Amino acid sequence: MTPRRALVIGGSLGGLVAAQLLRSTGWDAVVFERNDEELASRGVGLGTHPQLIAILKRAGVAFDATMGITPPRGVCLDRNGKIILEQPMARTLSGWSRLYRALLDVLPAGAYRLGKKLTRVVQDTDGVTAIFADGTSEPGDLLVGADGVRSTVRAQFLPDVQPGYAGYVAWRAVLDEADVPRDLWREMVELYAFCLPEGEQCISYPVPGRDNDTAVGRRAYNIVWYRPTDREALEDICTDAGGCYHANGIPPPLIRDEVIARVKADAEAILAPQVAAIFARTAPFFQPIYDLISPRLVFGRVALAGDAAFVARPHAGAGTTKAALDAACLADSLRAAGGDLGAGLAHYERMQEPFGRALVELNRQEGAYLSAQLKRKAERSAAELHRDIGAVLHAHIARSDQVGDLVAAHGLSALAGA
Ligand SMILES: Cc1cc2nc3c(=O)[nH]c(=O)nc-3n(C[C@H](O)[C@H](O)[C@H](O)COP(=O)(O)OP(=O)(O)OC[C@H]3O[C@@H](n4cnc5c(N)ncnc54)[C@H](O)[C@@H]3O)c2cc1C
Repeated sequence: MTPRRALVIGGSLGGLVAAQLLRSTGWDAVVFERNDEELASRGVGLGTHPQLIAILKRAGVAFDATMGITPPRGVCLDRNGKIILEQPMARTLSGWSRLYRALLDVLPAGAYRLGKKLTRVVQDTDGVTAIFADGTSEPGDLLVGADGVRSTVRAQFLPDVQPGYAGYVAWRAVLDEADVPRDLWREMVELYAFCLPEGEQCISYPVPGRDNDTAVGRRAYNIVWYRPTDREALEDICTDAGGCYHANGIPPPLIRDEVIARVKADAEAILAPQVAAIFARTAPFFQPIYDLISPRLVFGRVALAGDAAFVARPHAGAGTTKAALDAACLADSLRAAGGDLGAGLAHYERMQEPFGRALVELNRQEGAYLSAQLKRKAERSAAELHRDIGAVLHAHIARSDQVGDLVAAHGLSALAGA
């Protein structure tokens, strides 16, 4: 019997896991990515969860010690660089490109097609067709929209569902171990470090290096700095030197020099000197933070997955874990339903819609005090104004466990083999 064909739109982590797991359950799954070249890494770090690691294993990726770094201490550094709070922790930090490369390596040649920008989906009772910007089309039995926060697939079926700006951006920066002054590296490689200037949150930690290397001397240091930014300021920093405004995110090389100079000056003024010294040596870029909730995930033969379906703020570092859970649930639901595609997709939606919604809410809680900074002081609650540093640190570390609790509460533990 010819295997059923799945068209997976979007060739980032969510699409790759979905394609691989569908293939492992008998589908002929092919990924279509709009970019002409394999996706470039900005070397950014990526927090993992046990569920992600388990699902990667299901997808054929052996997650071993070379895939990540586990700093043993969670600390909060004050403005002078002194440790003012400390808590043991065991979170494995990997890198986006480390996982991308590993997933790409397990897909057979020909199952990952570049330069394929989806423009439209057409479907009837017999099948679904993906129409691409290059004038070609591809037939299939199922189409998975894993095309991210600005999903073309979602826009076609849920045109009114838009990402909501959370009121803050994440400045991100990464520096090769070799470029971090030696003493500083020795100190920081041990740490998952917070700096908490009033109303802001900066987290930094070691990650695999440029060539996805975790060997000594070849790692990197990663910084994520959440900064309240109102819409006017966001518009300003999304405008390039030629005056062009990039509404859906400015490419990092186009961020104006003066914007970079300003954020580096702010780092020096308000972050711990160790973190500011690393930040000063980087080419930082930023990502606006969004929430997105899709009320439905399935439209006939079409299913949304990963960030196309829900975007949770990144505080629990669970976006990729959620994309992997979506992929595993989709593959398992379809397998359990045998030839009944409709029943399989209905089961997928029943499981993943409430989970996605709950994950968005969990991350909103941590980001609430960052969003609140844009309100007038009188509107902010005492808790938001004087948020206790210890509470932020403990809540952040606990958030990681809460992701596992949420997975269990929504009956999804079996997807990760638990
Ligand atoms: C600041 C920040 C920090 C984060 N940190 C973490 C972390 O520590 N841990 C974690 O798990 N997650 C983290 N995330 C979230 C994580 O990046 C995503 O949730 C996760 O990678 C799932 O992405 P995805 O594959 O669904 O979508 P994306 O990665 O957005 O990929 C979508 C893909 O679809 C392609 N595409 C788009 N439109 C089309 C089209 N029309 N046709 C064809 N292809 C198309 C795009 O080019 C892209 O390759 C973070 C996010 C942010 C913003």
